Amino acid sequence: MKILMIIVDGMADRSVNDTTPLKSARTPNLDRLSEMGINGIMDTIKPGIRPGSDTAHLSVLGYDPFKYYTGRGPIEACGAGIEVMPGDIAFRVNFGTVAGEGNIFNKRVVDRRAGRIQKKEELVKAVNENVKLDGVEFILGNASGHRAALVFRGENLSDRITDSDPKNEGEKVMKVRALDPSAEFTAKIVNEFIEKSHKILDKHPLNAEREQKGLPKANALLLRGVGKAVHVPEFSERYGMKMAVIAGTTLIKGIGRLVGADVIENERFTGSKNTDLDLKVETALNCLESHDFVLLHIKAPDEFGHDGDFEGKRMFIEKVDSALHPFLNLDFSEVCVAVLSDHTTPVTVRDHTADPVPVMIICEGVRRDDVREFNEFQVYRGGLCRIKGVDLMNIILDLTGKSKKFGA
Ligand code: ZN
Ligand code: ZN
Repeated sequence: MKILMIIVDGMADRSVNDTTPLKSARTPNLDRLSEMGINGIMDTIKPGIRPGSDTAHLSVLGYDPFKYYTGRGPIEACGAGIEVMPGDIAFRVNFGTVAGEGNIFNKRVVDRRAGRIQKKEELVKAVNENVKLDGVEFILGNASGHRAALVFRGENLSDRITDSDPKNEGEKVMKVRALDPSAEFTAKIVNEFIEKSHKILDKHPLNAEREQKGLPKANALLLRGVGKAVHVPEFSERYGMKMAVIAGTTLIKGIGRLVGADVIENERFTGSKNTDLDLKVETALNCLESHDFVLLHIKAPDEFGHDGDFEGKRMFIEKVDSALHPFLNLDFSEVCVAVLSDHTTPVTVRDHTADPVPVMIICEGVRRDDVREFNEFQVYRGGLCRIKGVDLMNIILDLTGKSKKFGA
């Protein structure tokens, strides 16, 4: 039996006048699936713990985030296509604009996104080819827009260091500091990298061109989200299943690569409101032929939550629902489908909260309950009751006959 997990990012919400974007949306397809399956609510991490998308995704894939999550850097680095190894120190990076005199730590950040620069492959290449560090290797990986990821590899590296990104424009680039004596060497190397890469970028022809056009120079790398990569067992060795990930966001692609999945790339999967939902669904159906486990991720409802846009979120959920229509024709004796949200992103809070999320599982033999509508209010009455994210995979493995017996 194959498994399809559909994760609609931040789809769940808190009650606004006794309704939510999901509850007020017209969702005949989700409701039909709900009717065919077993429903419940889920704490993707633990009750009261506000999940990030990364920790929540690890958890629902059966990877305890308290064990495998060591910061966003390593996941972004995987997402940027870097082959991350245990022991590597990884950062998320913004290409930014700095101005002022002296070395980079005397300069101020005037734009944290360098005018939202799009094409910067040449700059990434120039840094990789021209910056030299003593005894430590590094890899700068390109990501979408102004984003990148950075990995340091070598002996005695530590992630007990601070960020260089001041997070606010108008402030100076921060010198990376060691949080304990064992990290002094790492801090020194990282600061050296920040200064050397700035020198290369500042005089790069692409930036001279940008300056002529009146665009902000992409002349600084701003580092944050440091983490030390740990060994994460591959999905295939853990579950004996070949996994495919269909996602637009670097973070979710990073989770996929971290667990050794095939990440299906397509420029029409934007990880945003303009993504091609129909193409994603079609791709998921194709992947079900070639893979045993398919993760389909849809990002935009989370963005509407962060924007505080109830109506936008409701309408986008309706679009998601229409796009999911082809899944109603699946043979549920061959494919087990799970639909869930990774966390709640209430439009009233504009950030993630720990409110549990709706979840449903549809497959042959499942004990159907009497829930007929897939929303935050109805699923409480379902047969799954309240589960933890890290238990979801076990429940699905059992329903699909892939679970080992505990005991005789
Ligand atoms: Zn999320
Ligand atoms: Zn979010």
